[in-house]
Amino acid sequence: MPRWFETRLSGPGDSQPEVGAGVIAKPRELVRVGLPRVLNLWSTHQFWIGLLTALGFDARRIEFSSDTSEEQGREHGKGRGTVDCCYPVKCISGHYGELLAREKRPIDLLLSPMIQTLPSFLGGHVQASLACPRVMAAPENIKAGFLKGGDAFAARHVRHVAPLVTLDEPDLAARQLHAALKEVVAGLTAAEVRRAVQVGLSELEAFNRQMRQASRRLLEDCAREGRPALLVLARPYHMDPGIGHEIEVDLQGHGVPVLWSQYLPLDEDLLQWMYGADIAAGRLKSPFDLSDVWPSSYSANTNEILWGAKFAARMPWVACAVRLSSYECGMDQPTYTPVQRIVEGSGTLFFSFQDLDSTKPAGSVKIRVETIAMYLRTRSRDIIAAKRAAAPPGCPL
Ligand code: SF4
Repeated sequence: MPRWFETRLSGPGDSQPEVGAGVIAKPRELVRVGLPRVLNLWSTHQFWIGLLTALGFDARRIEFSSDTSEEQGREHGKGRGTVDCCYPVKCISGHYGELLAREKRPIDLLLSPMIQTLPSFLGGHVQASLACPRVMAAPENIKAGFLKGGDAFAARHVRHVAPLVTLDEPDLAARQLHAALKEVVAGLTAAEVRRAVQVGLSELEAFNRQMRQASRRLLEDCAREGRPALLVLARPYHMDPGIGHEIEVDLQGHGVPVLWSQYLPLDEDLLQWMYGADIAAGRLKSPFDLSDVWPSSYSANTNEILWGAKFAARMPWVACAVRLSSYECGMDQPTYTPVQRIVEGSGTLFFSFQDLDSTKPAGSVKIRVETIAMYLRTRSRDIIAAKRAAAPPGCPL
């Protein structure tokens, strides 16, 4: 049976609901939900799809905005800027504008979570798995740009919902999501949101597992064929072509297989081979212990970049690591030196593209990509041999 939304009733002393507020008067499965494909949505998208479908929304009516692009910003974000200075946050105006402007598939609900913490494979081994504060605050910040000079959401009959979500605490996340979504989704119960959060987290975990298995297969191929792989050390949203400028795609075009630090294999046999001696000697508490290189381990994405740097240093077939970071990223700046030292200290090639923004320096990126490809062609064999000689025996790959 379809679950129908109710329109809020007005009564004596109760004012008429504003346009753009109140529950949505449509069956749940007909509601079109827009999600801006930005920031940590890049690493949690499966959670949101799992959550919404478990709540009865139709997966075919879940709309993600397009990749970030200059055209998107120009056409849909112009005049909507707010105060944030870091590039990935600024770009969100274009995503909001694009979702609001959709004529053919108009959205009813713009769901833009303020993700406070993230489920991370390093959870329990680090101090915390917080999102960057700018990531967390971005939805409210960007929303302000669509309220100046009139409510752009109300004008399109779109509800904007931006719940604070503590994604590494499922019970709390369920309470936060229920409190926010019940304002626009009629009849939504706490129990169904609790169940839907579990479904979302399971689907996210299954997706991550699949990606990690693919990374392991890639490393097995490299080990069998004596070929180098390249590891990208970046935030999840550097996968967005408009944020990361597809540098890793250009590198892959030179025949180098590419791994991302978010999806490295975590299999017990591999991690024991890589870190077992350090654990036995008491230098590390576990393969996920970062205290030897990064004691202030509060930020999920930063922790994972540091862990990826350690992985690059110890994995013989990762012959090169490429670091990406965005313009005005205050979170990344303190990590530049430690990451470079960890990688280079193992003899692994290290290249860094910092302060990436909209002024895509196509010419200089192309030259640097060719330089990296040349180094990999000429140096990989020796790098792999030296790293294998330094690694423990019995590699499971
Ligand atoms: S991590 Fe850096 S680039 Fe990303 S939102 Fe935070 S400050 Fe901006």
